[in-house]
Amino acid sequence: MATLELSNLHAKVAEDGGEQILDGVDLEVGSGEIHALMGPNGSGKSTTAKVIAGHPAYEVTDGEVNLHLDGDEFEDLEVDEADLHWNLLDLEPNERAALGIFLGFQYPAEIEGVTMVNFLRTALNAKLDERAELFEDEDEDAEADEDDAGYETSPMEGPVDEGEVGVEEFQAILSEKMEQLDMDESFANRYLNAGFSGGEKKQNEVLQAAILEPEIAVLDEIDSGLDIDRLQDVSNGIEALRDEQGTGVLQITHYQRILDYVEPDHVHVMLDGQIVKSGGPELAEKLEDRGYDWVRDEVYEAA
Ligand code: ADP
Ligand code: MG
Ligand code: MG
Repeated sequence: MATLELSNLHAKVAEDGGEQILDGVDLEVGSGEIHALMGPNGSGKSTTAKVIAGHPAYEVTDGEVNLHLDGDEFEDLEVDEADLHWNLLDLEPNERAALGIFLGFQYPAEIEGVTMVNFLRTALNAKLDERAELFEDEDEDAEADEDDAGYETSPMEGPVDEGEVGVEEFQAILSEKMEQLDMDESFANRYLNAGFSGGEKKQNEVLQAAILEPEIAVLDEIDSGLDIDRLQDVSNGIEALRDEQGTGVLQITHYQRILDYVEPDHVHVMLDGQIVKSGGPELAEKLEDRGYDWVRDEVYEAA
């Protein structure tokens, strides 16, 4: 079980005189929950996602981002109970990912001739490596450094380590996940830059999350530009993340449409860098009928 907690989070663009974008965001997302983060364009939704992931374009000026995990998240590692509370703002993006925060990543278009399957296996091994490193004691660190020196490396495969998931083992994991997501196996053997359609990229994002088994997945506009069939597939995939692996989902969306397919437990409305209203699925329906203006009116009348 995990809880991601944003408290009074303030962030600005990381340059001199950079614009203040987040103005005190409070939000708590637990394992197995689906939260919809909605709001008009420019309200700060994507910035929230990127600050959670540790994007260097933003500087946190106040507030906290904490992750609480319980012991069974660490069956693969030996750790003390005391280590189960993390201030994510002290950690690098890859360390956050290793602890179970997922933000769908863009396609490295510059990498030619790499299949989706290799890309995914590399991503999984990178996460497992980083995770082991986070908990390694100093002796093991020294040993690992010695070991690494002797390994063959390639840009996509990285150091070949005993602990890493090999090709055959990964094939089995991938087949299971693709079946879970009802995806065609041929997908995985396509090349990364071989013209995936917009919808296929979104489906890949869900597949990445299925393979990395995050505690909390942040999916930013995963519904944009999808036709109904693909929207249904992606939505089934999101439900599978929750149902099969207990992932908590923060689903960022401008439109209510995807929420007809994946019913959120909680709906939040962001305006001008703050979450100004939260509720259940009925809130999303109200937004669909009436847009965002009434929320703005309500907030500014109250102020
Ligand atoms: P949303 O995802 O809700 O549409 P964003 O978080 O992308 O909103 O952006 C919120 C506001 O911050 C917008 O006005 C946007 O132009 C601005 N902004 C976001 N990122 C940057 C950046 N890196 N540099 C300058 N302005 C930015
Ligand atoms: Mg956005
Ligand atoms: Mg778990």
